[in-house]
Amino acid sequence: MNNSIIITAAVTGSNPTKKMNPAVPYTPGEIADAAVESHHAGAAIAHIHVRDPDTGKPAFKEELFKEVLDRIRDRCDMIVNLTTSGLNLTGPDAIAQRLEPVFLKPDMCSLDLGSMNFHDRVFSNPPQWSVRAAACMADNRVKPEIEVFEPGHIRQAIDLLRRGLIGGTPYFQLCMGIPWGIEASVESLLFMKNQLPADCRWSVLGVGRAQLPMITMGILLGGNIRVGFEDNLYLRKGVPAKSNAEMVGMAADLATRLGREVASVEQARKILEIPEVS
Ligand code: ZN
Repeated sequence: MNNSIIITAAVTGSNPTKKMNPAVPYTPGEIADAAVESHHAGAAIAHIHVRDPDTGKPAFKEELFKEVLDRIRDRCDMIVNLTTSGLNLTGPDAIAQRLEPVFLKPDMCSLDLGSMNFHDRVFSNPPQWSVRAAACMADNRVKPEIEVFEPGHIRQAIDLLRRGLIGGTPYFQLCMGIPWGIEASVESLLFMKNQLPADCRWSVLGVGRAQLPMITMGILLGGNIRVGFEDNLYLRKGVPAKSNAEMVGMAADLATRLGREVASVEQARKILEIPEVS
């Protein structure tokens, strides 16, 4: 087991609003600030969605992603992971649009494999999407973060790995408790982890009140962990988190108390085989 633990901060996502927690970042400046502050609190990776700066509604605009990426890179060398989930995109151009963040050549992009019901919508990831997205990430030397919400997604990832569509050591994000993927329970997490290919790297996230139990399991099982407003708005029951950084600080403290060493960006880049930003 690698004793270093990589913490990802998922600072805004698509769903939380300032009404739910005033610290949810909307503008590229706020999103980049949240990422950099999280880095100072122990996060080596920032997972980025963008919002309409005026309304806070989920957006998927290349210029917004670029501004966030540039603002983070101006200030630190943390690993930037841009989403390609494009959950709100529809129509014939959706696949091409979802790939736009890859061409900005961030360090990493999320790669979703399976279609599923996601809260009140369909999250559509046809097989053609995952093949094209994996190839596009390989062409642009962007590390895929393989997001899996249920065991079938892991089977599909293993198929892509066998076909040589994902190179290097694969990196999985086990997304636990999202309606209507797998539930966030101890048994489910162990089951998911046991389906992963040997020699991969993995991280876990839990939604809402499942965040703390799931990251604790991740720490104990030798995995990596993700926290942040995308997944949860509360530090503990009834106590809203003041910032993403506060949540990262809590996670870093927990990991340290349980005997893990929080990975620096340099260590995280080595573990995930991601080159330094040139
Ligand atoms: Zn995301």
